[in-house]
Formats: sequence, C-alpha cells, structure tokens
Amino acid sequence: MIELAELTKRYGAKTAVDRLTFAVRPGVVTGFLGPNGAGKSTTMRMILGLDHPTSGRVTIDGRPYDRLTRPLTYIGGLLEAKSVHPGRTAYHHLLCLAQSNGVDPRRIDEVLDLVGLTGVARKRPKGFSLGMGQRLGIASALLGDPRILMFDEPVNGLDPEGIHWIRNLMKQLAAGGRTVFVSSHLMSEMALTAEHLVVIGQGRLLADTSMARFIEEN
Ligand code: ADP
Ligand code: ADP
Repeated sequence: MIELAELTKRYGAKTAVDRLTFAVRPGVVTGFLGPNGAGKSTTMRMILGLDHPTSGRVTIDGRPYDRLTRPLTYIGGLLEAKSVHPGRTAYHHLLCLAQSNGVDPRRIDEVLDLVGLTGVARKRPKGFSLGMGQRLGIASALLGDPRILMFDEPVNGLDPEGIHWIRNLMKQLAAGGRTVFVSSHLMSEMALTAEHLVVIGQGRLLADTSMARFIEEN
C-alpha cells in the first residue's frame, strides 16, 4: 500500500502538488486522473523517491521509501527501447539487470513470457516498435517481482492492440495482489482500466472514490 500524507511540492512560487493525502491499496487498479499539468508526474516521482517533497510524506507499506536499498521493487515510467545499450539483445539487457540486482536469471524467461516477448528475446531492442520497447520496459520492472507498480500515462502513443494489452496486464498484476497505480489525463481510458479513482486538479485532491461511484456522481 502507498500512503501520501499532506504531500506537497513547490517549484519556486508554483505549487505543483498541494497537500495530497490518499492511499493506494493492493488488489485493484487505482487510476490517477487529472489534466496535463495537474501534478500527476510530480506526485509519482515523489512516490518513487526520485524527487523530494517540499513537505509531507510518502510511505510504502508503512515505511519511508528508499530507492537505493530496493531498486527494482517499484517502477516509474516505462523504458524506451532506444535507452537500452545498443549492443545488447533483449535477453542480455534483462540478464544484466538481473545480475546487478541479485535476481535469479531463471526469472528472465518468466517475465519475457509474461510480456509476450519470448520470440524476440535474442533480438536487439533498437528495432523494436514503441509497444515492444514498452513491453521490454515492463519486463525489466517485473524482474524483481515488485509488489507496487506505477504506470505514468502508459497508453500514450500506443496502438489499440497495445492499449488493450497493457490494460489487461495491469488488471492481472493487481488481481495477483499487487498495488497498481496508473495515471492518465483521459477519463475514458481510466473508466476502462481502474476500479478505484483518485482525481487531482492544480495539485489538489478532487476525488478519491470507487470508479462506479465516481461515474454515478459525475
Ligand atoms: P502532470 O503529470 O499532471 O501533467 P506535472 O507533475 O508534470 O503534471 O506538472 C505539474 C506542474 O508542475 C506543472 O505546472 C509543471 O509545469 C510544474 N513542474 C513540474 N516539474 C517542474 C520543474 N522541474 N520545475 C518547475 N515546474 C515544474
Ligand atoms: P508498430 O506499428 O508500432 O510498429 P507492430 O506492428 O510492431 O507495431 O506491433 C503491433 C503491436 O504488437 C504492438 O503493441 C507490439 O507491442 C506488439 N508486437 C509486435 N511484435 C511483437 C512481438 N514479436 N512480441 C510481442 N509483441 C509484439
């Protein structure tokens, strides 16, 4: 479970995230909805420990997050294929990650299968489509079997098939008892993906409710 308490981030005079207090629970996909500039990425970066709050705090399963001690446990944005070392195959990329993070290499075949990349494991990701690069990024993130997964606008730029696939993967991961938090600026996308919804605008919490209730009331 992710818990935010009065989480705030200011950039000079601009308050990007304004006293956000809410929790993201395991078992269902929680959507994070807000227009561009609402503060979603900034919030996610603070949850991931990539950015320091101005005030307030984030706890993960009751503990302050420390990305240095458990680097593979939580994921942020998605890897782009071009950010992979050009000389490495998809498999080699995952092997290097597994080795530097103390993950059993037998896990590689499992994650490749989970993201549907088994057939291209021996290929270099340079020629991968956006969707395939994203699958490889997800495979990288799943190596350490994280309990908490963050997806920042994951469907951006994907074709309908890719969107459908990632939606189902997020639901499957949540149904397996993980905490899945996904941002979008599109209500139509959230309605198809999330069972619980957190809405922000101008850095402030506007709603924190079940999707069914949100749709009923809006
Ligand atoms: P979203 O992800 O919802 O589109 P962001 O978290 O990216 O929103 O941005 C929230 C607000 O904070 C925006 O007004 C943005 O311009 C501002 N902001 C984000 N990062 C920085 C930064 N590094 N410096 C200054 N302002 C920033
Ligand atoms: P694009 O038009 O973006 O190049 P592709 O035709 O390569 O897309 O792929 C369409 C969809 O199928 C994408 O979502 C991509 O992730 C997926 N895909 C294509 N080839 C593979 C593959 N070998 N293994 C897994 N997924 C694939």
